[in-house]
Amino acid sequence: MEFATLGRSVARKAARQAPSLRYYSIVHDVPRTTAASLSQTPPPPQPQSVFDRALNATGPRNDWTKEEISEIHQRPLMELAFAAGTVHRRFHKPSAVQLCTLMNIKTGGCTEDCSYCAQSSRYKTNLEATKLSTVDSVIEAAKIAKANGSNRFCMGAAWRDMRGRKRGLKNIVEMVKGVRGLGMEACVTLGMVDKEQAKELKEAGLTAYNHNLDTSREHYPNIITTRTYDERLQTLENVREAGIHVCSGGILGLGETPQTDHVGLIYTLATLPGHPESFPVNKLVPIKGTPMFGQEPVKLEDMVRVIATARLVMPKTIIRIAAGRVTMPESEQMLCFMAGANAIFTGEKMLTTDCNGWDEDKAMFDRWGLSPMQTEASKIVEEPKFEARSFDEMRHQSLKDQQNSVSASA
Ligand code: SF4
Repeated sequence: MEFATLGRSVARKAARQAPSLRYYSIVHDVPRTTAASLSQTPPPPQPQSVFDRALNATGPRNDWTKEEISEIHQRPLMELAFAAGTVHRRFHKPSAVQLCTLMNIKTGGCTEDCSYCAQSSRYKTNLEATKLSTVDSVIEAAKIAKANGSNRFCMGAAWRDMRGRKRGLKNIVEMVKGVRGLGMEACVTLGMVDKEQAKELKEAGLTAYNHNLDTSREHYPNIITTRTYDERLQTLENVREAGIHVCSGGILGLGETPQTDHVGLIYTLATLPGHPESFPVNKLVPIKGTPMFGQEPVKLEDMVRVIATARLVMPKTIIRIAAGRVTMPESEQMLCFMAGANAIFTGEKMLTTDCNGWDEDKAMFDRWGLSPMQTEASKIVEEPKFEARSFDEMRHQSLKDQQNSVSASA
């Protein structure tokens, strides 16, 4: 056998026996170093691309342009999600996911025309309007949420704004104090608030105020006509100036164009004087009777793209998978966590739509090695017991406790 043939056959044999390892490198066409090349002046360093700058960020920036955010949003999804996961690990503990529970403290009868909302009095959705819940019932629900591992309790009232709601605000102040007294973060969503109302809520100890922008400035008039985008931004400013964390995000699936409207939403929030502490990403749950009923379901890739882009553009912000999570299989949720999401709403309800229950979320956390996040704003000192019990069980227990205390005192 000739030497060359022998060489080829040995190489083929070695290749067959070698473990099947493949190496991928992002380094291409590295020029060979020669004496001549060493004597040359090195080329000036190339400016980093927008994507690389975001990937290497050591802190948030709020001078983004829409074009820059669009460039990030358009990256191949695998690359985008991987980069977002990398940034996520730099700014957050990757296994920590915040558990929040949302309670509707005043359902329905709202005068606004948000075209996705079951609580608007303009649409026939068979939702019964209720009065403001009592302070005691809210604190009881917060206790149950805490016992199940939530460290943030959010209270939502279906109102346009807080004008002329002095008594309502007084009760909400008591609710906020009660929730904070349990060592939990307290968040409310009450529509638009002015500076005075925001100050009052801050003094009560409110951690965060939720007021979503919903979508981009351009698409917004197709969704809501009863109040403007700027009015919403004014509420965010009032909240921020009062020293309350801003929680503001959007709803995907409102008939928008992802390439422009998802970018537009992130752009508005990322260029505020401070990034929102929290960015909820809602997936439209189409409600029969609302104008948005019948919209195309949100694609997973659009959801992941928004989460990953937001993570790269607002690295410190907590990104919440909010309404619509109940429609996502666990594998889809995990993809979102890997791309930078780090909070969920858990419990029995998400305002008017279903929510993944505590049992289900606890099992998911166990499977994937996730743990409930403890945040600075929360005063919980011990790790919360992540014990899953239904509302019925808790109510039953509290009834039994009451009966025992009555018979003990008799
Ligand atoms: S989203 Fe809020 S403001 Fe809009 S209709 Fe529903 S409850 Fe009213």
